[in-house]
Amino acid sequence: MALYQEQQLKVYNSLSGEKEVFVPIHNGKVGMYVCGPTVYNYVHLGNCRTFISFDLVFRYLKHLGYQVRYVRNITDVGHMVDDADEGEDKIAKRARIEQIEPMEIVQKYTVNFHNILKQFNNLPPSIEPTATGHIIEQIAIIQGIIDNGFAYEVNGSVYFDVEKYNKEHHYGILSGRKIEDLLSNTRDLDGQSDKRNPLDFALWKNAESQHIMRWPSPWGDGFPGWHLECTAMSTKYLGNHFDIHGGGMDLKFPHHECEIAQNEACTGNTPVNVWMHANMLTLNGKKMAKSTGNNILPNELFSGENAILSKAFAPAVVRFFMLQAHYRSVLDFSDEAILASERGFNRLMEAVKHSSELPVSAQSTVDIQGWRQQCYDAMNDDFNSPILISHLFEGVRLVNVIKEGKEQINAEDLALFTSLLHAFAFDVLGLESTNIMAANNDKLEGVVSMLIQMRNEARANKDFAMSDHIRDELAKLNIQLKDGKEGTSFSL
Ligand code: AMP
Ligand code: ZN
Repeated sequence: MALYQEQQLKVYNSLSGEKEVFVPIHNGKVGMYVCGPTVYNYVHLGNCRTFISFDLVFRYLKHLGYQVRYVRNITDVGHMVDDADEGEDKIAKRARIEQIEPMEIVQKYTVNFHNILKQFNNLPPSIEPTATGHIIEQIAIIQGIIDNGFAYEVNGSVYFDVEKYNKEHHYGILSGRKIEDLLSNTRDLDGQSDKRNPLDFALWKNAESQHIMRWPSPWGDGFPGWHLECTAMSTKYLGNHFDIHGGGMDLKFPHHECEIAQNEACTGNTPVNVWMHANMLTLNGKKMAKSTGNNILPNELFSGENAILSKAFAPAVVRFFMLQAHYRSVLDFSDEAILASERGFNRLMEAVKHSSELPVSAQSTVDIQGWRQQCYDAMNDDFNSPILISHLFEGVRLVNVIKEGKEQINAEDLALFTSLLHAFAFDVLGLESTNIMAANNDKLEGVVSMLIQMRNEARANKDFAMSDHIRDELAKLNIQLKDGKEGTSFSL
């Protein structure tokens, strides 16, 4: 029996505003789409929080035994400065500033994004499609929306007709915004735009002659609107109706609202069962953002090179800090808060490491089954990682009292206890033990020192073939030996 048949997962659905029992559309399988980054700059810690939140969701669904298809896109065209429909494309602007090709910008920051998420021990998604790789699919959806009468073409651009759509559907269903309020808050565009109504949004934009990122379309050369790519890529890989769509809270409106509208206008159906929104990481009480400069880069944390930090922090500690807050709560970053997390993380790792060495008794005086269910209950309650972590600290307490002989555990319970501590800490929370990494490094240094000693013995015996062989083989592994006055040293 799969774990998901035994455990009842509830997920908060932004669409209903309630926690709902999670039932996938296809038995045992989950389709999940999460909006990925716009790759025009280094990913900041706030972005990482959202991707770590959904990594937790992905990991827990997998842990429950679901077969998950996790699609997370790369936005490499069509996202305009200020999230607007007019003005410059974020990537094209960056390319102009750095004086390189837009696709060089995309490559540079995609590599950075992958590298950082790997350090945070995020699992890669099942599919990572790019907006530029799905222009044909986007054009087909625009055509479908035009054919259904919910979009119009003006001067080579195509706009979504929000008022017309709202007559038959509900624009604002996700965000709770009302079209009248939106209209009264919108400045008239004074004829600067081709839109019939300021609420309308671009599906396709005509490219002016100097615009580099452009594709042919039935409406002339241009490029797709930002909201459209997610509609195209989610439905291409997950179907017109799928289980979970996620993203940061700031994407709920207009991005996700427009995604729903595009889907319904094209297919007549609502695309997603559960909408999930991860809350923001703040710094000094304000949202971390690329545009305002109020942010920290992950590498600054890993190196300690930022004036607000007292020291460097391992990626696993940063991840633990994030998971100590529920994904739907705002989390404020500070040096004191992450220092406290580091102490907790070390205590937890120490206990996990030593749990298997605990003394075994004939009888248990501790209730491991009860503790197991408390851990699951926490995660089943909308992925409540802070509550799970508090139960893991109860596990730390158990390790200590059993070690001190104040409580007893039998062999069967100990095997269960150890495997659960590992499963929750490493598989579900995705914490990589920095202790384990440090221990592996110590072992490697020990092995290289031993080889240096063998090489010294070979040289003393004038067996230069052997001594060169050792040096060359180590060099192949990128371990360089340096012979100096004080003996041989090496760098890993
Ligand atoms: P972007 O590259 O700007 O499209 O952002 C990528 C993801 O990061 C989106 O899901 C955003 O909602 C999310 N995001 C942006 N800023 C923050 C923040 N301060 N805290 C958490 N998530 C954020
Ligand atoms: Zn999106």
